[in-house]
Amino acid sequence: MKFGTKAIHAGVEPDPSTGAVMTPIFQTSTYAQTSPGRHKGYEYSRTHNPTRTVAQRNIAALENGKFAFCFATGMAATDTVVKLLKPGDEVVATNDLYGGTYRLFTKVYEAYGIRFKFVNMHDLENIRAAITDQTRLLWLETPTNPLLKVIDIAGAVAIAKERNVMVAVDNTFATPYLQTPLDLGVDIVMHSLTKYMAGHSDVVMGSLVVNDEKLAERIAFLQNSVGATPGPQDCFLLLRGIKTLHLRMQRHCENARVIAEYLRSHPKVGQVYWPGLEDHPGHAIAKKQMRDFGGMVSFVLKNDDLEEAKRVMESIELFTLAESLGGVESICTHPASMTHASIPKEEREKNGLKDSLIRLSVGVEDVEDLVEDLKQAIG
Ligand SMILES: *Cc1c(COP(=O)(O)O)cnc(C)c1O
Repeated sequence: MKFGTKAIHAGVEPDPSTGAVMTPIFQTSTYAQTSPGRHKGYEYSRTHNPTRTVAQRNIAALENGKFAFCFATGMAATDTVVKLLKPGDEVVATNDLYGGTYRLFTKVYEAYGIRFKFVNMHDLENIRAAITDQTRLLWLETPTNPLLKVIDIAGAVAIAKERNVMVAVDNTFATPYLQTPLDLGVDIVMHSLTKYMAGHSDVVMGSLVVNDEKLAERIAFLQNSVGATPGPQDCFLLLRGIKTLHLRMQRHCENARVIAEYLRSHPKVGQVYWPGLEDHPGHAIAKKQMRDFGGMVSFVLKNDDLEEAKRVMESIELFTLAESLGGVESICTHPASMTHASIPKEEREKNGLKDSLIRLSVGVEDVEDLVEDLKQAIG
């Protein structure tokens, strides 16, 4: 089955009890048993819920994976990956990553004796150099947030496998429409489903997808033991959102190309970050491992003036100034004070994240209107 067909059909069957075409919201915490221990596969909704089961099957199919697990948030999914480790273990992570992930790693798990190294994975040799006998996990995010750097997934996997290190990829920015990391040998795919997957800025949710049965058993154990599971209403919203994932992503990518090219031609705009631009340092790898270049575009003003960048963000109208991304509506974010404020300024600048950087989540509106809005805001 091809992607668009899977988005609509994979894992979804008419409800056997009523024929309902859309998966019902099974708003129940518990399930009747006919005799102690005899039931239809459902006992308690922390462990399993039918609406969640359908969402998980659908996500697994989209990622070309065997097993998917949904969580209450993307962070709960990432938290579960770290819980696979034990004190003394080391993680090598990309240095340009979601602020919340950085915070979870350094502010929560370092206290439990897990060690994290942040390296620039654009140069794969940095990964090789950072791996020690204690390294258990390689954490990738590609394209990265907010600088849209592209990491060579297959190259990173090859290095990790030499040392028997597990590889996880945060696939939130790309979605399986653009790249399927399990096909490149990755062990775990993580999503903040909150973003493009659900796609309508109305739900917070996360997931993990794996192929290995043993790993799936450990994740299922943690999912049930820890209990950061989503409710059925959220799973329903996700399923509804995913039905148009391929249509939305196609338009996000088309619009982002127009915006990136417009910004690049603007005399007041400095560097534009979008992997589809031919001189973007990750362009060749993006072309190799992604089917298109995504809907996120970041830029700085030529004079790199924070006050002027703030003025642009205050005057922009169609792009809502807000955290988050991946919804049908365009959003504009100031990473230094919003999504990435939990990373110290010094660390941010070391990684190339300027305080004046503006990040756009280009929506699926008519792109002419978006360009007009940027024109009036930048001036
Ligand atoms: C939003 C986001 C997360 C965290 O997900 P939540 O659903 O907000 O918990 C993780 N990684 C990336 C790349 C994100 O954009």
